[in-house]
Amino acid sequence: MPKINLGIIGGGQLGSMLSIAAKKLDIKTIVYCDDNNAPAQNFCDEFIFGRYDDKEKILEFVNKVNVITYEFENIPYETLNEINKNKPVLPKPSINRLIQHRIAEKDFINKLNIRTTQYTLVEKKSDLDSLSDLLPGILKTTTMGYDGKGQFPVKEIKDIEKMNIDFSNGYILEKLVKLKKEISVIITRFSNNNYEIYEPIENIHEDQILKYSKIPADVSKNIFNQSKEWAVSIAEELKYIGTLCVEFFIDRNENLYVNEIAPRVHNSGHLTINAYNISQFENHIRAVCSLEKIPIKKISNAKMVNLIGNQIKPYRQDMKLKDNEFFYDYQKKEIKDKRKMGHITTLIP
Ligand code: ADP
Ligand code: MG
Repeated sequence: MPKINLGIIGGGQLGSMLSIAAKKLDIKTIVYCDDNNAPAQNFCDEFIFGRYDDKEKILEFVNKVNVITYEFENIPYETLNEINKNKPVLPKPSINRLIQHRIAEKDFINKLNIRTTQYTLVEKKSDLDSLSDLLPGILKTTTMGYDGKGQFPVKEIKDIEKMNIDFSNGYILEKLVKLKKEISVIITRFSNNNYEIYEPIENIHEDQILKYSKIPADVSKNIFNQSKEWAVSIAEELKYIGTLCVEFFIDRNENLYVNEIAPRVHNSGHLTINAYNISQFENHIRAVCSLEKIPIKKISNAKMVNLIGNQIKPYRQDMKLKDNEFFYDYQKKEIKDKRKMGHITTLIP
């Protein structure tokens, strides 16, 4: 079989791990990224630096590959759609466009009769006058948010007035869920009703950034099954190809809500590298490159800790790891506050 050249848009830690998984499958990776220091250049076969609207550079990239995927959702729809006219982009650009926008995403989920938090679009200050039933809430940009960026907690309307926000950029106000727990479910879909799904992962965020993940999640049988069923419905409805993650909230009354969908591999799934025979990354590559689907098998329970900012430092200086500990350094050039620098997965009985 001729060798597959896989194009990956985005060169962060997820692009790096996709590249590593592809190598194992003897697939060549070409990463395209708008950051000249992107860490994935340390792991891929070829790296192209260019803006996401640089048509010439993108064409150069597209000419080198057979199929294209992406590691994050904030890529302009126009770019993905143009590329898709030439070579297949998976998951489909229309899926990315839907999920990029928090309102479109939540409208879609509700149409499937799946619960989300209550929400509304805020386009101008006066929209806020009638929204007291959504308080306390969180005001979020409708697009481009990640790791809690572009989010503002709101107790009272006057909190927003103080913030001096330009509402023409598009905001969503979400009612705050009284969280008991957060979980995520990762699924890789290959074709109609043909998928592999990982068990729910329990997640703890600090400052709206994922800090800890573990399996098994400490949840009821009901939540365990319901979250997986909802993830399957979402993936099937989207006719999704590749790995997708659904983030959930569980409130203090044991109600399950979908928080958001990530149309990509996900940070909470890092532990699948060590805890399963096939990781979320390898499964994504298998699905988008039309390779064989292999049934997943759990090898071990596991927990993962994200190393944020300076927390990476002691591990870089020859920290002794136990046999059941696996350290990943994303090799980002600069340590920054709130930046995910690496992680440690520990296999547990
Ligand atoms: P991002 O796109 O940055 O991941 P999320 O919407 O997932 O944004 O928010 C990040 C985290 O902030 C969530 O995982 C959760 O811990 C908290 N959060 C966000 N929205 C709500 C909400 N409506 N109610 C309670 N907690 C929330
Ligand atoms: Mg999130």
